[in-house]
Amino acid sequence: MSLFKKVQNLFSSAPADPVAQADAETPHVHGPGCSHDHDHGAPKSGASAKGTPLEASAVKVTPKGSGIDQVRNIIAVGSGKGGVGKSTLTLNLALALSNQGFKVGVLDGDIYGPSQQHLTRAPRPELESDDVLNPSEYEGVKVISVAMFSGVNQAQVLRGPMATQLLRQFLTQVNWGALDYLLIDLPPGTGDIQLSLAQMVPLAGAVLVTTPQELSIIDVRKAVSMFKTMNVPMLGVVENMSYFICDGCDKKHYVFGQGGGQKLAQELGLPLLAEVPMDPRIVETSDDGKAVMVKMPSSDAAKAYTSAAKTINDSLSLMQKDSDGALGYFMLEWK
Ligand code: ADP
Repeated sequence: MSLFKKVQNLFSSAPADPVAQADAETPHVHGPGCSHDHDHGAPKSGASAKGTPLEASAVKVTPKGSGIDQVRNIIAVGSGKGGVGKSTLTLNLALALSNQGFKVGVLDGDIYGPSQQHLTRAPRPELESDDVLNPSEYEGVKVISVAMFSGVNQAQVLRGPMATQLLRQFLTQVNWGALDYLLIDLPPGTGDIQLSLAQMVPLAGAVLVTTPQELSIIDVRKAVSMFKTMNVPMLGVVENMSYFICDGCDKKHYVFGQGGGQKLAQELGLPLLAEVPMDPRIVETSDDGKAVMVKMPSSDAAKAYTSAAKTINDSLSLMQKDSDGALGYFMLEWK
């Protein structure tokens, strides 16, 4: 059975025992050196599982002509809490990078609460071959989300290893092609998916998203500690819903307090990438499946996304130049 059918079947009917069905229907993943096209032992959860979910996912992905082998930079967009605007930011950052001439993709890593299909209304991906999917597209950005298979209203009733398995397939069996950036919209928090992802692929960096209030920042600190443990470089902090500009008085109102993002960035020694204003039109356009970068390109929010995208690209270019320089120096010395 093709990959597409399997992922689709996984969500197409409510199984009597969804967990058991998810285990039984684990889609095929080629292991290293595996060139055949039949199903075989993907890691299973439960008593028969070999090792913990974390161990099962610790295997690095092995791209075979599709997947992420031509992706230059994979960036994780993470937050401590849900509802802070992480998915909205991921999509708009991707569009901002695309506007700056880069080839970009978005992988919705929030398997249990996917948003990217709702935000883009991108159609279901086409099958390239039995084992490879072509990603969907929104405004020139390649997108994949589990909601493209299950529908936005269906709960993703999956055990951790199964969710990790899907993520792995989105990395290895989706034809991402040559991309400058693949942005991964992480689930909120510091769970199995985040850890597995950091183990599976070389992340170029992580962007942290928070709203200004301490309650959100407390949880971002936990994400920071996770990224540090996983040796993922952090590229900066985006403060979302920073302030609200009132129609009547034209004044900035700091609804959730002022300066929380800046304080966090300083504490971490990271740049504050943007302060995105709170704007009800963001909710409207997002709920209509149209991104701010497309619908309101000259808004303050779009300017903030654009400036964050520029800073991210500049820091990565610098980091990569530095590491090339270091290698060059080393080679010269060695000769
Ligand atoms: P998360 O991915 O962190 O759960 P979402 O991106 O789904 O958050 O956003 C949560 C809600 O907040 C959505 O309704 C979205 O439209 C809205 N939102 C995001 N950013 C802003 C903003 N800057 N101003 C107003 N609403 C926003």
